[in-house]
Amino acid sequence: MSEQLEKRAAGAGRPASGTAGAEQLRKDALALDAEDALASARELFTLDEGVYLDGNSLGALPRQVPLRMADVIGREWGELRIRSWDESGWWTAPERIGDRIAPLVGAAPGQIVVGDSTSVNVFKALVGAVRLADAGQGPGGAPGAGDGSVRDEIVVDVSTFPTDGYIAQSAARLTGRRLVPVEPGDVPAAVGPRTAAVLVNHVDFRTGRLHDLPGITAAVRAAGAISVWDLCHSAGALPVGLDAHGVDLAVGCTYKYLNGGPGAPAYLYVAARHQAGFDSPLPGWNSHADPFGMTPGYAPADGAARGRVGTPDILSMLALESALDVWDGVSIDAVRAKSLALTDFFLECVRAYVPEGLVTSLTPEEHGQRGSQVALRCADAPAVMKELIARGVVGDLRRPDVLRFGFTPLYVGFADAERAARVLAEVLADVPAAPTR
Ligand SMILES: *Cc1c(COP(=O)(O)O)cnc(C)c1O
Repeated sequence: MSEQLEKRAAGAGRPASGTAGAEQLRKDALALDAEDALASARELFTLDEGVYLDGNSLGALPRQVPLRMADVIGREWGELRIRSWDESGWWTAPERIGDRIAPLVGAAPGQIVVGDSTSVNVFKALVGAVRLADAGQGPGGAPGAGDGSVRDEIVVDVSTFPTDGYIAQSAARLTGRRLVPVEPGDVPAAVGPRTAAVLVNHVDFRTGRLHDLPGITAAVRAAGAISVWDLCHSAGALPVGLDAHGVDLAVGCTYKYLNGGPGAPAYLYVAARHQAGFDSPLPGWNSHADPFGMTPGYAPADGAARGRVGTPDILSMLALESALDVWDGVSIDAVRAKSLALTDFFLECVRAYVPEGLVTSLTPEEHGQRGSQVALRCADAPAVMKELIARGVVGDLRRPDVLRFGFTPLYVGFADAERAARVLAEVLADVPAAPTR
């Protein structure tokens, strides 16, 4: 830990508010930025003078991507045309790029395939999980753990990102299961011999709460069910440890903390031990063992390729591949340490600058329960966010009353956090308060 962070962790005193407090916080921000080992990564991105705190919705553009895309479009597509499927490595891109994402989420190679949207991958994973449970592939053994009961339930995170919930409902209908919505913290108590599969978001998109992946995964495994984790708000922001914690299946998007670009393809992780039994509900020709055999009968490919469906979206996929270069030599533990320091510092600045009672943080104080964003509940949030953006601080809004600020350690610094809190206080002083609900 850096000297500044140690001092802060030890609670080095400073005036809590007023001009002297603001001056001190500004000085602290500069000192923290000066000794931040990740600070230089910001130069890898195309940014402006503003403070961009929406990388948890759309990551910033890595500088090298436009050059790479000019080559992909001009030469690989424009000149090589059909030859690029082989010669430019287009055909194998989904697995190759999956292996680039793997170290960021703690997965050994060969278990991640890139393609389709997160929503589509949630569907593949959840129906695939139920089929694994039916086949007795759950660690607890046969369906119903051998006691005659049937695994007729799918447990889903009640606070989930909506798309996961909608797809879970459809997956439950298709597989003849009952959906059991529970708070992630209540999953261990909710799972049992009737549970087929469990779908949980690693970090809550609204509040930024980090859920207990190791503990919940262990409870799901002990119940003989299959775990499916959605990593949209954790991959690229904090260590995930898919292999180490024995996760069964996982999905995630690449346009948030992984900076893959708007609509960049998502990914699907199928743990090696489940690959042979993974029975995709979307068996397209790209996941066939012999795709160019063009046979009427389906025979699934081995390995991660089994999670593919149809022709990959090569342009978006290769933009993502280029974007992943920014992670070369970056330790995800260092990213996590900076993310926590940034969100701590932002909250400290908010407490110092914003008069008591105007905003309430929904983001857990405890590091073990915090993702990489801060969510503040605030009256008249839409008007406040609009004005924040007009003044160069870009966060986003989750209706009706939540201001979201995402902290992406590769390109957000401590001075940004201080400035965001200061501008927030100014906006709150200027925007006429609406009556609170
Ligand atoms: C962003 C996000 C999604 C997005 O799904 P798409 O299919 O890419 O639109 C899904 N789940 C969670 C938890 C998310 O945060």
